[in-house]
Amino acid sequence: MALDKTWYTEEWAGQGSAISLKIKDKVHDEKSPYQRIEIYETETFGTLMTLDGLVMVTDRDNFVYHEMMSHPALFTHPDPKQVLVIGGGDCGTLHEVLKHKSVELVEQVELDERVTRVSEKFFPELCESNNDPRAKLHFADGIKWVAEAKPGTYDVIIIDSTDPVGPAAGLFSEAFYKNCFRALRPQGVVVGQSESPLFHAELIRSVQKSFKAAGFRDVATLFFPQCTYPSGWWSATMASKSESVTTFRAKASATKTFATRYYNHDIHAAAFASPEFLRTR
Ligand code: SAM
Repeated sequence: MALDKTWYTEEWAGQGSAISLKIKDKVHDEKSPYQRIEIYETETFGTLMTLDGLVMVTDRDNFVYHEMMSHPALFTHPDPKQVLVIGGGDCGTLHEVLKHKSVELVEQVELDERVTRVSEKFFPELCESNNDPRAKLHFADGIKWVAEAKPGTYDVIIIDSTDPVGPAAGLFSEAFYKNCFRALRPQGVVVGQSESPLFHAELIRSVQKSFKAAGFRDVATLFFPQCTYPSGWWSATMASKSESVTTFRAKASATKTFATRYYNHDIHAAAFASPEFLRTR
């Protein structure tokens, strides 16, 4: 919904606030079987992708989200080899996961193949690892995929989903987390994007509760800035089957052999610092 043709504006329902990005051009618009996919060229945030009118990715700030969705979980697991990404069709999370040398296989299960094909065209940097022999792209419902996965298949599951409405609603449920628990190996770690601390604190509490109820031993939420998402402040909630979820391979993280722009071992430790209104530990 644009106030003016030269601005893309996303109003945040019920929050009396919005984000606007100045646009140069709209370069793509399609309705896939699942959602409307639009691509804009902006003045200062590079390329922007929206799904059903909601910001998913911009060139300028996606690195924070993708790095925080992948590296904390991968440095928490003692030796991640088999990774599952649910959603994540822009492939930015997949790209980050593949930076870990220990990883032997990343299966990505995205509902909407068109999101990935459009991203390949407009976000080539995010998709540059799609042909890595360790990456397997599946186009299917992640809820069904995890329900049917063999027990003990994965070391890490990353839920890089849209908001908890429509086909993504089930990705925030206890039933789905129980299936994640079953699909993970004994030291397994799961992380899911859990929306804005300021706007969706109830959802974060409910995700934490549902992970616990699903059997995970430890649960904690990570916080990070994401200036183009509602409120500009975002979260991911992580759960572990057997270890403390805030204990991580700090030395490996501090001496990581790949480049990041936001994530580092200090950020990893600090990201678990919880605001008082969401404190559980
Ligand atoms: N970074 C984004 C955010 O938080 O706004 C998420 C981006 S990623 C493009 C989200 C993807 O989840 C979408 O492409 C959508 O098609 C996919 N998705 C939604 N529900 C799904 C489901 N049940 N199974 C698999 N993928 C799903």
